[in-house]
Amino acid sequence: MNFIILFYHIEFIPFHHSYIMEFSRVIEKSRILTDLPELIPFSYDATRHRCIPSAVLRPVTKKEVVEILKIASKKRIPVVPRGAGTSLTGASVPVKGGIVIDLTLLSSIKWMDFESRCLAVEPGVVYDELNKELAKEGFYFPSEPGSGKVCTIGGMVATNATGIRGVKYGPIRDYVLSLEVILPNGEVLRVGSPSRTSSSGYALKDVFIGSEGTLGIFTEILLRVVPRPEFYATALVSFSSMEDACRDLASLMKEGIRLSVAEVLDSLTLETISMYTKLRFPKVKALLLLETDGWEEREVDKELRKALKICSNAIKVERSKYREKLWEARKAAFPSLAKYTPSLLTEDVAVPVSKLAELVKKIEEISASYKIRVATFGHAGEGILHPTFLLDEKNLKIARSAAAKLIDEAIKLGGTITGEHGIGIEKRDFMGMEHGRSLRYMKMLKNIFDPSGIMNPGKVC
Ligand SMILES: Cc1cc2nc3c(=O)[nH]c(=O)nc-3n(C[C@H](O)[C@H](O)[C@H](O)COP(=O)(O)OP(=O)(O)OC[C@H]3O[C@@H](n4cnc5c(N)ncnc54)[C@H](O)[C@@H]3O)c2cc1C
Repeated sequence: MNFIILFYHIEFIPFHHSYIMEFSRVIEKSRILTDLPELIPFSYDATRHRCIPSAVLRPVTKKEVVEILKIASKKRIPVVPRGAGTSLTGASVPVKGGIVIDLTLLSSIKWMDFESRCLAVEPGVVYDELNKELAKEGFYFPSEPGSGKVCTIGGMVATNATGIRGVKYGPIRDYVLSLEVILPNGEVLRVGSPSRTSSSGYALKDVFIGSEGTLGIFTEILLRVVPRPEFYATALVSFSSMEDACRDLASLMKEGIRLSVAEVLDSLTLETISMYTKLRFPKVKALLLLETDGWEEREVDKELRKALKICSNAIKVERSKYREKLWEARKAAFPSLAKYTPSLLTEDVAVPVSKLAELVKKIEEISASYKIRVATFGHAGEGILHPTFLLDEKNLKIARSAAAKLIDEAIKLGGTITGEHGIGIEKRDFMGMEHGRSLRYMKMLKNIFDPSGIMNPGKVC
């Protein structure tokens, strides 16, 4: 059967009846989806990629995940684990068909131990929901991805996500203590330890973090949490160029300022957010959004004032009392750009902060030489930028060449092809460029855990 949806040619290969029969022995039939209208929501993520799975299975227990994987292994059926499907790389799209395992029904917080500052969750717990529970106890789970209202902890661990508070708190890797992983043959593995620190053997846990569902499925995640700050001080700092903004940010780092947020946005991104949200950003070439946090109001305020004095290139400095609205608006950057243009290609490069000014210069040169509009924003305090190419269906090929050039420049500056979104389909071709000989060992690892290659095929390496 063939379908044309949103300009894409999609092939749907229904399962043989015997496969469904086999799966229905291990999971209730009502939680096996096989009708086309039910499958379409699982055929895409936040990218342009689309592929319809043959079935979607919605387990509610670890045992169901184990049994599903045993069948998939025996029959060599491709398996794509899925959280909320907000991936920006095509990671959650079932490019080889097969089954999608929807993990959103495994969504309980299993226990919290505030004496040890840790907790255990199932993978389908939503980031913001977890923080609502933690706030009641005075705790916080970093680092606030833009998709926090919907994305799952399982998806975040599988992509090593970070967010607007990454400059202070770092990516999720820094908070995962241990994982329960179901390997494709159904074996249940525990990697890591509830202990705060461990020097025991190879760091297998870290191999699974960022593995994008290509090695196994997480069914339980032990996380470290931190006390929730009580006070915040926030400012908007305007610049007449992105280069100036990035130079001042590097000075803030050098002077040892303890920022909890350092986000950069260019004029096109600001204009677009102002168009689609209630917040009106200043009409400037670049804006740094800065915040400090802590438990002593005066200290938090003093640290921000110190920061603002260091911003010698700033053309305007404004303190903000409306931090909640401001962060809502910042998180609307990607959705606003998506509304503004028929299609997008979002990049996710990261470089050392001292190289950010050079990178933004390269982005401007690439935009001019490829004649393509680029909107740039990102978690600049972590060196992450999301240059977003605005597409009109005709210039996708040009955008892909421009993106390749950008990635090359980021690597030359000592950077990485992805700061937070992961590899998925989008970055796969660039893995060799970044990792050289190490890629061979990554492929060997993949083969050890998934010898028949059923786990999220076509992704990462
Ligand atoms: C508007 C917007 C803003 C965003 N902002 C940020 C941001 O600030 N920071 C950031 O890091 N990302 C951001 N993202 C990207 C995305 O939200 C993150 O990558 C997020 O962590 C994905 O979570 P998810 O539940 O949607 O996972 P999915 O998209 O469903 O899956 C992502 C990957 O994880 C795998 N996976 C999911 N669950 C499991 C599991 N239990 N076991 C094994 N593998 C699993 C999937 O197979 C896939 O490879 C943003 C996306 C959007 C659309």
